[in-house]
Amino acid sequence: MHILLMGPPGAGKGTQAAELKERFNIPHISTGDMFRAAIKEGTELGKRAKAFMDEGKLVPDEVTIGIVAERLAKDDCKKGFLLDGFPRTVEQADALTGILDKLGLKLKAVLNISVPKEDLIERAVGRRICKKCGATYHTKFNPPKQEGICDACGGELYQRADDTAETMTNRLSVYEESTKPLIDYYKKAGVYTEIDGRQPIDKVTADLVATLQA
Ligand code: ADP
Ligand code: ADP
Ligand code: ZN
Repeated sequence: MHILLMGPPGAGKGTQAAELKERFNIPHISTGDMFRAAIKEGTELGKRAKAFMDEGKLVPDEVTIGIVAERLAKDDCKKGFLLDGFPRTVEQADALTGILDKLGLKLKAVLNISVPKEDLIERAVGRRICKKCGATYHTKFNPPKQEGICDACGGELYQRADDTAETMTNRLSVYEESTKPLIDYYKKAGVYTEIDGRQPIDKVTADLVATLQA
């Protein structure tokens, strides 16, 4: 089951991926998570990506496409994957088509979690992430039982450096300009489904699962 999870920043891709990867037993591959891990480890990739991420800009295609090509070639992707946050440009989408052709894989679904712009800044600014296990919370919409502490593992919650209202404004215009055109791209490919991301988290999951099982 090879799936693309699309949607603007803060739409709920990571939250839904955490659920779907368990249900379908496929790896969750998030380019944002890969970049953040590289920054934490202090690798060359991390150093290159950081400046772009801090400003809410896209990491250049030649960097991003390379790490995805490498990751998708691994054995665990043969049975499926949940690709989150890639592609974000038409160039990346074309590259993905080439990568999948080479690997003999085919996309089963492109699921776009749709949320109106006016909700997205609030979602991102209230986002909190567990330092230890990566679980995602929201101060208002999905709070942990104890403030600042992960329900799942007891880890400390932190706020991403780019989850400010200012950076989100940039990220949302980058989305409009570079990523939104992919909706038409995948509609034409005949694998596109839009999911209403304004619903509660479990209802969004139910819609995604229903689409995948149809
Ligand atoms: P993305 O990966 O698309 O950027 P996340 O999954 O990290 O988005 O979600 C962004 C924020 O919105 C998080 O704080 C998350 O808890 C919250 N969130 C996710 N889905 C919903 C939803 N359906 N309703 C309200 N808040 C949500
Ligand atoms: P969100 O879903 O909230 O936008 P991500 O974790 O997917 O956050 O991405 C965080 C940042 O990482 C992006 O703003 C961008 O700088 C970089 N990034 C992630 N994926 C890509 C990609 N496919 N192409 C270019 N940059 C990316
Ligand atoms: Zn945790």
